[in-house]
Amino acid sequence: MPELPDLEHIVAILNDEFAQLRISEIEVLNPIIFRVLVSKPLDDILPGKVVQSFRRHGPFVVINLSDDLFIVVHPMLAGRFYIEQDKTGKNTAYCLRVRFDAGKSLVYHDSKQMGKIYILRKEDLDQIPRFATQGVDVLSADFTEAFFLNAIANTRKQVRVFLMEQETVSAIGNAYADEILFAAGIHPKTFSYQLDAGQQKTLYRAVNEVMAWGIEMVKNAGKPLQDKVRTHMKVRNRQGEPCPVCGTTIRKAGVRGYDAFFCPKCQPPQRSQFIDWSIQNAGG
Ligand SMILES: [Zn+2]
Repeated sequence: MPELPDLEHIVAILNDEFAQLRISEIEVLNPIIFRVLVSKPLDDILPGKVVQSFRRHGPFVVINLSDDLFIVVHPMLAGRFYIEQDKTGKNTAYCLRVRFDAGKSLVYHDSKQMGKIYILRKEDLDQIPRFATQGVDVLSADFTEAFFLNAIANTRKQVRVFLMEQETVSAIGNAYADEILFAAGIHPKTFSYQLDAGQQKTLYRAVNEVMAWGIEMVKNAGKPLQDKVRTHMKVRNRQGEPCPVCGTTIRKAGVRGYDAFFCPKCQPPQRSQFIDWSIQNAGG
């Protein structure tokens, strides 16, 4: 699944490759993932449009075309972008091919077909589910320590769930949630109210540092657009391997239906506190 550092890398490459190019042809190869909010056929409205820019909005890739038209891609679990020099690939995973005057194409490929592609006008962007409700982006100037401490003080969710619910903090996925909690030394099942003031600040710093590190590592790997770069992960998908810090075997646990990977020594369970018992008794 492309996460924020992957999408930052993808968007930078797409801008280098395709910004200011004119679309010559559009091929919808798998209509099931399309949500078209324009009334005319795509063949009538997209060819001739010029790509103004690519940008990331939370987990979405936003392609801004001339005449205030937009293609918005939500890659979800398995969406990948490819650059094709020749029109070649075709199987059920191919969903969209946008061919440009320069001859090369941008292809969106989704083996699980869980992603979505929206084609719409600027005024309809907010109709995309979870688009307008994205919270404060972790790379934005608004993601301050004061904002974060206030947000975490106002939730009673598990920290991992809080980090991943994009309505507050946008946009941390599974892999980086694990890496952030590892960097902060916080067990993945910890509840937000169990963190003391020092841990809350440590967690804020870990979000910033781990996301910046992830962006750097993905960029430096220099892999093609479609490759998922995860070799730098310290705990994610490393169950059974030694912790890079202390050597303890990394474990996997389920947190609200998601797999979480952690080091049981670097991320000890939060000490039971009085409030734990009251919650347990009240909640049943
Ligand atoms: Zn460890």
